[in-house]
Amino acid sequence: MKNTPNWTRGSCIGKGSFGTVNLAVDKFNGEVFAVKSANTTADISFSALENEIQILKSLSSPYIVAYRGDDVTVESNSIVYKNLHMEYMPGGTVADVGKHGYDDVTIRSYTKSIVSALSYIHARNIVHCDVKGRNVLVGEIPGSAKLADFGSAIDLSCENKGIRGSPLWMAPEVVRGEYQGPESDVWSLGCTVIEMITGQPAWLDRGVDTLCQIGYSNDLPNLPACISDELRDFLDKCLRRDRSERWSCEELLQHPYLLSCTSFSPKFGDKKWSPKSVFDWSDLNFSEEESQIENSDTSSTSANAKQRIGKLCSNVAPNWESDGWEVVRTETVTTSQPSSSVNDLTVTEREMICTPPGKQN
Ligand code: ATP
Repeated sequence: MKNTPNWTRGSCIGKGSFGTVNLAVDKFNGEVFAVKSANTTADISFSALENEIQILKSLSSPYIVAYRGDDVTVESNSIVYKNLHMEYMPGGTVADVGKHGYDDVTIRSYTKSIVSALSYIHARNIVHCDVKGRNVLVGEIPGSAKLADFGSAIDLSCENKGIRGSPLWMAPEVVRGEYQGPESDVWSLGCTVIEMITGQPAWLDRGVDTLCQIGYSNDLPNLPACISDELRDFLDKCLRRDRSERWSCEELLQHPYLLSCTSFSPKFGDKKWSPKSVFDWSDLNFSEEESQIENSDTSSTSANAKQRIGKLCSNVAPNWESDGWEVVRTETVTTSQPSSSVNDLTVTEREMICTPPGKQN
């Protein structure tokens, strides 16, 4: 444990459900990096950060935010923090790209980066589980973006408990609690592309009703009217309710929408990415077979839908992204009455499921 780390914590550059992200400077070489910290006594945040560290340190891709180390510090308030050091991405997140108007070249390039990142991790049996605009960081090079926030990621070769993610980006089978695999990331990717185009989540947030709509209806997110037929077809390949009909990321990389993308292609000499081993050179081809996941029983009845949603509300620790509320609760909410939005829940229910940003530990 380090009381005096060889780096200095700078200003806060981001806050999520599971940790705070600060700028940091290495005291010896002056290098700037980002540090994500979690209080070691905060169970959920700490275990999410530990999970993220273990997964991120095993990855090396130009499309994934780079791991730079980890440590434990005791800071001035005597609180013990676990810290993940990452490359600093100065351009914000792709969640903001749609807020400045529709820019097809940029969105196509970001989409290719996300699909490339997912293809890389899926080939390694890893599922991100929380693909959304806020978890894709923008770099210095125009059009470059990297997948970040592996706190919810799962290694399919290990035992995994429970579903995770952010409800408005979750695939139907995830909302129903049946399955979470590479195909579920592809659905979330489709929602993220819509988010990049419109600047809004793909689904209108009506709280529990929206979860029921995602999990138990035949509805699909509305596609923006302004998009090309190529992009419409790409989204159609991602947003299939039947997960066996969705394209894999390997296939999506061959879709005309991405094949025609030329704007950002990292070179081996790119200073923002250097391979950790000789095996990394082949990663740019993304040629490995995607792992096959055993199908689980997909049958469900509307009778257990509300029970399922209630469990979802209790287990996932996700972000609703509704009016700045972050969902961080752990208690079960029973959904006996459908509510028309997160804000329509009773105060007690809302207190049980929501903690405003900055109030959680
Ligand atoms: P979530 O609530 O999405 O689960 P989290 O607690 O896991 O969030 P992150 O999503 O990893 O935390 O980070 C929160 C925010 O911090 C990001 O949305 C981003 O704005 C910022 N951030 C994270 N990592 C970096 C980085 N490497 N460089 C620059 N900014 C970053």
